[in-house]
Amino acid sequence: MINVCDIQVMKPLLAAHGFHFSKAKGQNFLIAPWVPESIAVESGVTADVGVLEIGPGIGPLTQQLSRKAGKVCAVEVDERLKPILDITLEGCSNVELLWGDVLKQDIPALVKEKLPGLRPMACANLPYYITSPILTALLEAECFEAVTVMVQKEVAQRIAAQPGSADYSAFTVFCQYYAQPELLFDVPAHCFLPQPKVTSAVITLRVRKERPWEIADTGIFFRVVRSSFAMRRKKLSNGLASGFPELGKAEAEEILTACGLPENVRGETLGIPEFARIANEICRRRESR
Ligand code: SAM
Repeated sequence: MINVCDIQVMKPLLAAHGFHFSKAKGQNFLIAPWVPESIAVESGVTADVGVLEIGPGIGPLTQQLSRKAGKVCAVEVDERLKPILDITLEGCSNVELLWGDVLKQDIPALVKEKLPGLRPMACANLPYYITSPILTALLEAECFEAVTVMVQKEVAQRIAAQPGSADYSAFTVFCQYYAQPELLFDVPAHCFLPQPKVTSAVITLRVRKERPWEIADTGIFFRVVRSSFAMRRKKLSNGLASGFPELGKAEAEEILTACGLPENVRGETLGIPEFARIANEICRRRESR
């Protein structure tokens, strides 16, 4: 198999096809073979797994996943990579390439059609300019056992953050609602061509089979979460009153008291069980009106 991470191999291959990196498409290709090897190992992909890969580039991770998985379905937006992938993935008979924008795909339907009978997992060195929309789509698809991705290190820390920490955000709660994150390892900028300005990290999100909270209305739950972080430095009662104008400040305070929370609590210190209690209390009051 051609070693696409070897810069002596990669550069002439790209030049032969007149390929230039597109910054707009988030193209930073891996040039350190240990990285795709480690991602494939740590992702837990085995022969009974079907992998959805996003953005194969010239195929370093695709090659490694192909060795371990039952099948790899790789979605790439840049069709200029087609003739190069024809060479680098030669012999990888369990890889199917799909051309297009991953954000325009119906992911559950794609997984059902392309990876039948296999345990679905997602794996990628993500294009960083659309990290959040891709992760949102992968988690909301609710069809993967695990999602293992390389992202900017700050994003990985945000996904795995604990309540009360500076990195804790509405996106943390969103990710941890769907999955249990584990930070795996850092990847320095010199492992890519061209080098990004940031350090990267690989994180795995083990998707929850069951969620250990009773949430009456997930729409209200995520509205509570967004309201709680919209005014980070302010008391949660202010955030709630602003996110739910129909409540008003006094009722927002009553709701917190009913949930056993101090009147001056800040949203950034709360975990999912507390956000769930608040959301359920709002729902209960709406229903009894
Ligand atoms: N997997 C390769 C590697 O590790 O060297 C390339 C990773 S590069 C960071 C991101 C890849 O995602 C590029 O190949 C880029 O063309 C592709 N990409 C960017 N936007 C995309 C989109 N909306 N849908 C699918 N692929 C996309």
